Amino acid sequence: PRPLAVLQKTLAATASARAGISVGESVVHWFKRDLRTRDNHAFTLAAIKAAENKVPLICLFVVSPQDYEAHVTSAPRVDFELRCLEELKGGLAKRRDVPLYVLTVEERNNVCGEVLRLCEEWGARHVFCNIEYEVDELRREEKLVRMALEQGVNFTAVHDDVVVAPGALTTGQGKQYSVYSPWYKAWVSHLHSHPYLLKEHIPPEGKNPAGTRNRYKELFEAPIPPAPENKRMTKERKVSFESLWPAGELEAQARLKKFIDKRIHTYNTGRNFPAANNTAVLSIHLSVGTLAARTCIRQARDANSTTKLDGGNDGVKTWISEVAWRDFYKHVLAHWPYVCMGKPFKYEYSSIRWEYNTEHFEAWCQGRTGYPIVDAAMRQMRRMGYMHNRCRMIAASFLAKDLLLDWRQGERFFMLSLIDGDFASNNGGWGFSASCGVDPQPYFRIFNPLLQSEKFDPEGEYIRKWVPELKFVEGKAIHDPYGRGEGKTAERAGYPKPIVVHKECRERCLKRYKEGLRRD
Ligand code: FAD
Repeated sequence: PRPLAVLQKTLAATASARAGISVGESVVHWFKRDLRTRDNHAFTLAAIKAAENKVPLICLFVVSPQDYEAHVTSAPRVDFELRCLEELKGGLAKRRDVPLYVLTVEERNNVCGEVLRLCEEWGARHVFCNIEYEVDELRREEKLVRMALEQGVNFTAVHDDVVVAPGALTTGQGKQYSVYSPWYKAWVSHLHSHPYLLKEHIPPEGKNPAGTRNRYKELFEAPIPPAPENKRMTKERKVSFESLWPAGELEAQARLKKFIDKRIHTYNTGRNFPAANNTAVLSIHLSVGTLAARTCIRQARDANSTTKLDGGNDGVKTWISEVAWRDFYKHVLAHWPYVCMGKPFKYEYSSIRWEYNTEHFEAWCQGRTGYPIVDAAMRQMRRMGYMHNRCRMIAASFLAKDLLLDWRQGERFFMLSLIDGDFASNNGGWGFSASCGVDPQPYFRIFNPLLQSEKFDPEGEYIRKWVPELKFVEGKAIHDPYGRGEGKTAERAGYPKPIVVHKECRERCLKRYKEGLRRD
């Protein structure tokens, strides 16, 4: 059985027993990847419960270094998460007299026990959290519902990370969609018929009861722990990331507002051009939950000329359909949890003979493949922890199809580098690019990095920004300085020659995919 279904079954089976539990001395909200107070489903439920019963609300966040390893979390991402926690802790204390306690649990298996130990200590009998859809998290929460009940605690987990809950959309035959377009039609129509799913969750205003600060003084005073040693950045890098990526929900809301006011209406025409700076650059906030996908869709809809999500302005409509991809990949993860286990979504693609060429892999990671658009993309990611979507597709396709390296190596390297790393979206993007995922490109559709470069970075602005060795290469030679240009300018500047020839790679890839397709 799927872990999400098991969790939902346990929640349903225990609902009446849990409902009978009295409130206790405090209510707990357990923050995970939902680091915001605004439009947060579980936080709102917890705040209502606490306010109605006039008991303090206490917030908890669990840092588990083993989770960082299990989820292949990058150092910039850990740093961003901790900075968001600082913001959140400050805001909760100042505006609501609510403490946020960050607990480090070395062994991830001990998380359930530690959460319940704190409930005991704080006299809490109700814990609320939002559901995460990765297998380990779903299994942990299911165990926690049962363990909590034995201790007389009501542990409640609700949907929030997605706009439409996994399982809500099925084909005419009652199956999960594996192709985006019909899934998207169903997603839109579900939201049109259930408009309350886009309503904002508004927690009650007001502060914790008088005396909370004294009673839970040590929680207010406890510092946010530093990042584990293997996830720390150098001081210079940390400073640069702090200015590139300011933390917190207010920043997320301001970014969303600016995007909707200034750029959303031209998103459809500009979104594929990495130099145009035309996308929202909100993935980092969506991935730590300083912003809800629901808020994005609602505000985009409200800026449109129609309430229909698939109508009105082309820019707004297109952006909504892109944010929906995030939901789509989470539905896929919840329904086919084996994608979490390093398996390709499509079994037929599990026997492709990959190259394990470490020099090629290293050149790709370093942005030194001799293909300027690929190198610019990889260097943008190294510098910013972020890469434009078009470039993610080009770089991923180059690794899987041109270099014929195992896509899982690339998937992992992305997670180790991206500040917005999100398992479901990253896995979905890699599956798409390597043609072995859900809703794949057919394997014989292979990106030509030179044509992609000419089409989406026609003036070479993006390349010149991220590959300074090519700053002085003129005209179309920027896309292929050795093939199209005289090559000398690039060579003098130390830019590498192409490590492979695309045309040959294409032939090799077609052959290898064809040979490798399993028919058993
Ligand atoms: P916008 O274009 O403004 O879109 C708004 C939001 O919609 C994004 O923030 C994101 O949450 C969602 N979205 C848009 N496109 C996609 C998509 N194709 N798949 C899923 N969600 C989407 N996105 C991540 O958040 N984390 C990842 O680890 C990640 N890895 C990727 C790996 C590959 C190989 C590929 C091809 C794509 C990956 N994406 C990932 C999806 C996409 O590239 C980023 O979400 C997007 O570039 C973020 O920039 P933005 O916020 O300006 O996006």
